[in-house]
Amino acid sequence: MLKLFLQASLSTLWDRLSLQGKWQQVASAIEADALICKDSLDEETFLQNPLMPQIIIGKKDSVLSEFSCEMSTLNDIPVILESLEEIISKSQTLHNKKIPYKNDLFHTVLAFIWTRGGYVKAHLSHTLTYGYGYPFIEKICKIITPPPWKHQNQQASPIVGLLNHLEKLKLLSSHIVERAHSCPSCASLNIILRDGCSQCHSPHINKHSIVHHFKCAYQAAQHHFIRNTDKIVEFICPHCHEELIHFGVDYDKPGEVFLCENCHYESSDTVVVGRCLNCQFSFRSNETAQCVIKDYILTALGHRAVLSLSSDIFSQIEELADEKDLISYAEFLRHTKHLSSYKERYGLEGLILSIQISQTQDEGQTLEDETLLRTIGKTILRDTREGDLISVHDGHIFILMMGAQEDTKEQAIEHIQQLIHETFNEDISDHIIIEEYMLENVLKDQEH
Ligand SMILES: [Zn+2]
Ligand SMILES: [Zn+2]
Ligand SMILES: [Zn+2]
Repeated sequence: MLKLFLQASLSTLWDRLSLQGKWQQVASAIEADALICKDSLDEETFLQNPLMPQIIIGKKDSVLSEFSCEMSTLNDIPVILESLEEIISKSQTLHNKKIPYKNDLFHTVLAFIWTRGGYVKAHLSHTLTYGYGYPFIEKICKIITPPPWKHQNQQASPIVGLLNHLEKLKLLSSHIVERAHSCPSCASLNIILRDGCSQCHSPHINKHSIVHHFKCAYQAAQHHFIRNTDKIVEFICPHCHEELIHFGVDYDKPGEVFLCENCHYESSDTVVVGRCLNCQFSFRSNETAQCVIKDYILTALGHRAVLSLSSDIFSQIEELADEKDLISYAEFLRHTKHLSSYKERYGLEGLILSIQISQTQDEGQTLEDETLLRTIGKTILRDTREGDLISVHDGHIFILMMGAQEDTKEQAIEHIQQLIHETFNEDISDHIIIEEYMLENVLKDQEH
């Protein structure tokens, strides 16, 4: 039975919901699997358990609609509760495994994304300070620790910095949903753009026709030709002082010009000027920052990290991101060829191991994910002897241990297994297959 807590003001709802069979009502939020609250998020419960789904009844809050659920009638609640079952079961998986997510920002953010279908969507709304954001991730950051990623131009809030950092570590991937111009001062998308005088940027500009006097070839804005005398409007050329009477015969209007009422500057062009509704900064349109708005998707490596019991995994992944890389498969084959010829000529030993991860059934995540294999490859690389070469190719990690002898093979395999077990979760190490890869096979590959 799943446990549901209704806020005090809603407790009379229970009898009308008819949830018997699957749900039971509990007396406190903290023992519940889901919560129904009035008008807004229950902050205190969110602080205790950010993964717990909360259904908000009443005031419609579009920003929180993904996290919670708006509803129009009581009949919606059972349907909404059903949709929360996956979130609840995933949250319980983490709880039962005693995953140390609570005080760990990366763990909690990734755990939140994992329980919500592995996807975090950018919210675009004028009600948000920056015009877009990730409200739930922001809330998580507030309760754990402010992220060290300082706000920069082109970034709406440090949360974007955090998500991009997780992307750089290959824990998340992304999908661009929008590109936009943002305020060069505060990065908000809440800006207005308008035409302005190209000299003083004033919005007081008017379009005037250009008059061209055929006879003397003079041309200027129409107001220069108008002369008011005793209520009679005359059209006089300011250059040769002749009167212009017939359009098409004396003059024509070949174009238009912008006249600024503020500085009286005349120009055939205006400039696009912006003003930020968030910080009131004024700027030219070519000064705006380019902002890329993305949805983020949990990667197979991110998924592993969520389920990893070790909170050290993130510092390890961070270190690895900066380290020397694996070699390309072509390079790997070249070294293998050298080994083969040295073997014949000098009797030099060498060992090639291949590592494969068999498919597991959980979450439909593919463990052949190249990112995951590369991360495992780098973890091994960091721990192997100088000169060992590692490459990832075609769903395998290949390790070339120059000089290693046949009788050290078992020891090497055991060591690598142990290493993977320590770094990643046990449910990945159970699926690791490490074998010796025969030199002949690699060379055969090369011929193809
Ligand atoms: Zn601004
Ligand atoms: Zn003239
Ligand atoms: Zn002006």
